[in-house]
Amino acid sequence: MSLRLHNTLTRSVEAFVPSAPPQVGLYCCGPTVYDFGHVGNFRTFVFADLVRRVLAFNGMQVTHVMNVTDVEDKILRRLRETGLALRAFTDPYIEAFLADLDVLRCLRPHHLPRATDHIGDMIRLIGRLMERGIAYQAADGSVYFNIERYQAAERWPGCACRYGQLVHIDPGQQRQTGRVSADEYDKDHVADFALWKARVPEDGDVFWDSPWGQGRPGWHIECSAMSMALLGDSFDIHLGGEDLAFPHHEDEIAQSEGAGGLRGDLHGRKLPFVRHWLHGAHLLVEGRKMSKSLGNYFTVRDLLGRGFSGREVRFLLLSAHYRETFNFTLAGLEGARSALGRLDECLGKLRERAALAAGPAPSPSPGLPEAFKEAINDDLNVSRAWGAVFDWIREQNRALASGDLTPAAAAAELAAFASIDAVLAIAPAPATQDETPAHVVALAAERVAAKKARDFARADALRAEIRSMGWVVEDTPSGPKLKRA
Ligand SMILES: [Zn+2]
Repeated sequence: MSLRLHNTLTRSVEAFVPSAPPQVGLYCCGPTVYDFGHVGNFRTFVFADLVRRVLAFNGMQVTHVMNVTDVEDKILRRLRETGLALRAFTDPYIEAFLADLDVLRCLRPHHLPRATDHIGDMIRLIGRLMERGIAYQAADGSVYFNIERYQAAERWPGCACRYGQLVHIDPGQQRQTGRVSADEYDKDHVADFALWKARVPEDGDVFWDSPWGQGRPGWHIECSAMSMALLGDSFDIHLGGEDLAFPHHEDEIAQSEGAGGLRGDLHGRKLPFVRHWLHGAHLLVEGRKMSKSLGNYFTVRDLLGRGFSGREVRFLLLSAHYRETFNFTLAGLEGARSALGRLDECLGKLRERAALAAGPAPSPSPGLPEAFKEAINDDLNVSRAWGAVFDWIREQNRALASGDLTPAAAAAELAAFASIDAVLAIAPAPATQDETPAHVVALAAERVAAKKARDFARADALRAEIRSMGWVVEDTPSGPKLKRA
């Protein structure tokens, strides 16, 4: 079966065909770096990693872009609280984010643009919207997107010029609320939104010069500018959590299509900003919406601190279909551990048997890869895909127990598993004596972040936690070093 994926634009599962095969441009809204990512954030990033790996499994060459939002309302608030400069505050969270991605075995995106490195692209895009009369500078000095003018479709040939095409809302039916300057707002507020926010005293030294005076970009224009700068004015897949569909993604479409692209020719433009939109569903934790006050708010680091591995977290996050709300529980992680134990035992026995094989490396046995591909290509049907994996484990265990499995056949089955593990990335890591476990490395990175944020009590607590795992941190001139206790 060729790959089929749900498209939020059409509300249906469609064949996915890239515009210029085998190349695929994939953009995923990345982290806003004001805190450590929680497991709900990482559900989306593991989903993006799965999509990227499935595209590659289908022979496509993916360019994976994930932005880092390093200027936004919440970040400015935290700068005021901590007194830190922008990059001094955001850098440790970017490092921590990358360490968490590694722990969860997510391939690092090919490009990780930071918003603050693309201010020029954002100003250019806003300039095009101003030229075309679909943006205006208000009395507060900020520049806003004009939804009403954008809706005048006949003005811009080739552009859909329809606000609400992604989340299927009709601005005419909504309560019009004038203007909104906050980066986040809800669906009841179809309103002109800020593209460029005029500098205010609370922004401190976070501002840039623009044709409309000093200020900073709105969150939505950041993703329009960065995605088109790296993937072109029209690209294949845009992915994010479902909570971003409105207003963030709807606003991205309006800005990008309204401007006719970052560098495109407006009048020749016949292509949509994005051809295929993918949205991942919410994550509940222990049956409820995550919240610090309910005690069900987990960062990846929290879970590692409770003794779970990144591999177990990945397995659990990959066990649910991306369009289903998933209830993530600590009991589920225990279940992940025992399921992975069955896999490890089977792979261990197959390796023992295959070690007796002579001759060249065998070609993979076709059974498992075929069943797996059939399932995963059906809009990433992970339940069926895992079903294929666990059926295969039972079959191998039977064959091993009966003594019928030849060493060459065992090697062929291992090769089959390796081929699908290019997608799942769930095989046990080969153990080496000197390797520092990923969760210890992640805790050390968190300690560096805590020290930079001058949270020394937290840094000391992390040192003690690392010690309890049998490792010591030594601060050296070239940075902290980890050694066995
Ligand atoms: Zn975004």
